[in-house]
Amino acid sequence: MRIVRVAAGTDIYIARLDASGDTVVPVYAETQGPGRDGLREALAAGVIDGPAVADERPLADVRLLAPVINPQKVLAIGLNYAKHAREGGIEPPKSPVSFVKTNNSIVGPDDEIRYSKDDSTQVDYEVELAVVMGRTARRVSTADALDYVFGYTVCNDVSARDAQFGDGQWVRSKSFDTFCPLGPSIVTTDEIPDPQTLGLRCRVNGTTLQDSNTADMIFGCAEIISFLSRAMTLEPGDVIATGTPEGVGFARKPPVWLLDGDVVECEVDGIGVLRNQVVVD
Ligand code: MG
Repeated sequence: MRIVRVAAGTDIYIARLDASGDTVVPVYAETQGPGRDGLREALAAGVIDGPAVADERPLADVRLLAPVINPQKVLAIGLNYAKHAREGGIEPPKSPVSFVKTNNSIVGPDDEIRYSKDDSTQVDYEVELAVVMGRTARRVSTADALDYVFGYTVCNDVSARDAQFGDGQWVRSKSFDTFCPLGPSIVTTDEIPDPQTLGLRCRVNGTTLQDSNTADMIFGCAEIISFLSRAMTLEPGDVIATGTPEGVGFARKPPVWLLDGDVVECEVDGIGVLRNQVVVD
C-alpha cells in the first residue's frame, strides 16, 4: 500500500492510494492540535486498511503533506555509506552513529526549504531512505526488526554544514525549521520486502549529484532498528533516516550549497520523488 497524508480543502486525512495510484481513499480524519498526529492515531486505531471515512477523490485534487508531522521522534544515522564517510575525511564507523532531527524541521512534498543567510551560508542536501515504525519496538533482534516497520518514505536530511561542523554536535544543524522534508508517500513493507535493494538519488536543478543504492549502507535498516531499540523504545510513527550516500555538497570541489530558488529532488526507487524548492531570506 501507499499511504499519504493529504489536505482536501480545510480537512486533513490519512489516506491510502487505490491500485491505480490516482485515487485517494481517506481512512482517518486528522484532528489538528498540540501533540496530535494523524498517522500515529490511524496506526493506533488500526484503520489504515479499513473503509473510507470520506469521499474518495483524485490525487490531483488534494495537496500532499508530510506523511507524519508529529512523530514521537525522528532519529537519523550519520556516516552510513562508506564512500560518504570517506568523502568527509572520516573512516566508516564501527557501529551506527545516531542523532536526532526535531519535529519543527518536518515539511512535506513541495513545501519550501527556507533559511536565512544570517544563520547559515552552507546548507546541503542529503537523500535518505527513511523507515517509519509500525509497532512498538524494544530490544528487538536484527532478525525480527523489519517486522516492526510500517513502511518506508524519502527524507532529505538538509544540513547546515557551518553549524554542524562549528557546533561539533549535529542536532542544531540538522533541525532548522523546514530541514526535514518527508514524503511523498509511505510505501508499506509488503511492497518493499527488502529495503537494501533500492536505488536512491538527489538532483539539484535537474543535475544528479547523488546516485547510489541502499545495498551500500554499512548498517542496514534491520541492524539500525535493533541497535536503536536496545537504547530506546521505538514507537509507531517514529521516523529513522538511514543515512546518505556520497555526493553531498560540502565534499564537492568547489562545494555546492542550496541557494535561493534551487529545486531539490530526492528519489528512492519504489517510493517516489520528494521535491522541494529552496527559499533564502
Ligand atoms: Mg544524513
